[in-house]
Amino acid sequence: MNIPILMYHQIDAPPPRGTPLRGLIVAPSSFAWQMRMLRLFGYQGLSMRDLEPYLKGEKRGKVVGITFDDGYQNNVEHALPVLIKNNFTATCYGVSSMIGGSNIWDRGLVAEKPLMTLTDWRTWRDAGMDIGSHTQTHAKLTELPPDQAREQVVQSKNELEQTVGCEVRHFCYPYGWYGAEHQEMARQAGYATATTTRRGRVHPGDDPYTLRRIMIARATNPLQFAAKIMTRYEDKRQ
Ligand SMILES: [Zn+2]
Repeated sequence: MNIPILMYHQIDAPPPRGTPLRGLIVAPSSFAWQMRMLRLFGYQGLSMRDLEPYLKGEKRGKVVGITFDDGYQNNVEHALPVLIKNNFTATCYGVSSMIGGSNIWDRGLVAEKPLMTLTDWRTWRDAGMDIGSHTQTHAKLTELPPDQAREQVVQSKNELEQTVGCEVRHFCYPYGWYGAEHQEMARQAGYATATTTRRGRVHPGDDPYTLRRIMIARATNPLQFAAKIMTRYEDKRQ
């Protein structure tokens, strides 16, 4: 049984044509049909927390992981109501020092968008959703000395747990950049999993610190969406 873990960033109306990374902003109406389609095909959409027993092979079923990177406010605005309506859960990976801020790590590259405030994070948590870590500053871990990289991995967990008031068990490598030492840091920090940007579905028993995902883009159409989840379309292992 293959487990697709979907990777989303923003769920929002499209920015003007020609805006960099516009393709990563999925329309609210698209997200709505995607979740409805999963449910109609008998899949349960789950957060990384709820997916854990399936990843370990302790549970079996038609499940799909749902993840959001960076913690954009439009996730609470546009994705949360749809998740609740379908009785799904999801994980949002937050940048711990930028609660209530914006995606300044992308400054000059993409449009600045508000990130979730503390109230938003608590709304997300109280709706049964899961909170993961995406470092303190959206750090390029592979460009940092080991002690600073470790600080990013460890402290972001502590900060999110303390400020939001929740357990943070899941990590996501910013930019998808990591090395063997960062996998080890995530494990030692007490995370149960770490997700990457490498393509593919997960098999139970795969290394939990290099989990592959499936990117859903603005242009993903219903046929592609179904193929990504139900066929070998994404499984071309690099
Ligand atoms: Zn990110």
